[in-house]
Amino acid sequence: MFNGERTGPLGIISICISICAAGVILASAPVGVASTGDHYGGPPRHLGADLDHLVGAYPDWIKGHDNQYLFLRNGVRFPISDHRTDKSFEQLLEQPDIDDMFYVRYPAGAKPGQPPQNFDPGRVRFGPLFMAMYGDCKKNQVAATLRTIAWLPRHGGGHVAVTTVNGVDKALEAVSRELDRLPGAYIKYLKPSGGTYNCRNVAGSHVRSMHAYAAAIDLNPEYADYWRWSAKNVGHPVWRNRIPTTIVRVFEKHGFIWGGYWYHYDTMHFEYRPELLPAYTPAGRKPAPDRQ
Ligand SMILES: [Zn+2]
Repeated sequence: MFNGERTGPLGIISICISICAAGVILASAPVGVASTGDHYGGPPRHLGADLDHLVGAYPDWIKGHDNQYLFLRNGVRFPISDHRTDKSFEQLLEQPDIDDMFYVRYPAGAKPGQPPQNFDPGRVRFGPLFMAMYGDCKKNQVAATLRTIAWLPRHGGGHVAVTTVNGVDKALEAVSRELDRLPGAYIKYLKPSGGTYNCRNVAGSHVRSMHAYAAAIDLNPEYADYWRWSAKNVGHPVWRNRIPTTIVRVFEKHGFIWGGYWYHYDTMHFEYRPELLPAYTPAGRKPAPDRQ
């Protein structure tokens, strides 16, 4: 279920299935993963450390936090919690607060495999924070931040447009340089890119995709696997993946998380979410205090 759309200054076909995901949550009782029965929204176990990582991940925008608020440098503050602990999984995706973003930990470096039910680290995004940093594409604020970079130039991968906010352009260039040096067998997964910037909400949802902030990239759609395709036949997602782990590790090294770790998986999708990768430190910036 691709949503194809022609976008970007170079007319690259931007195909994204990504988090388009959230629209229909399959009917089944969520279990495990930082929830009580089918209730989500309680504070995660390592909240203090998670918030430190959040502050350290976006030093240009976030000044700090206390137990109640996240403080932005522009004077805005967001409550850490809405004090709801009775969210359904769909409400967790549609109405998250800041601590909900950490309801499960992103398994950086882990061997990929079938995730537990509703284990979607990174799919829960507190929209107002990302909107404050990257802008509102529907008000033309994101287009003004775009920079076009070469994608795998040694292999003629064309160009992609990503935001300069938070140094995402530099991070993706670093990814591209490393991927460009991989053995030839990897290249087919990487080019052509399935797209970067695409101003839209997650399909069937009020939540913006990270593509709407120009902070996400899809790999070659020909090798993509997507939870909705498998769910169509059996009623629930059955994990499947063809993307080599070597590629995933390169993205993680530069602050991008992978949609292949999600129960509602999207294996061609990567997005810049350094707050979920504690080992990653934005280039030239001080590491976040580590309280783990
Ligand atoms: Zn995507």
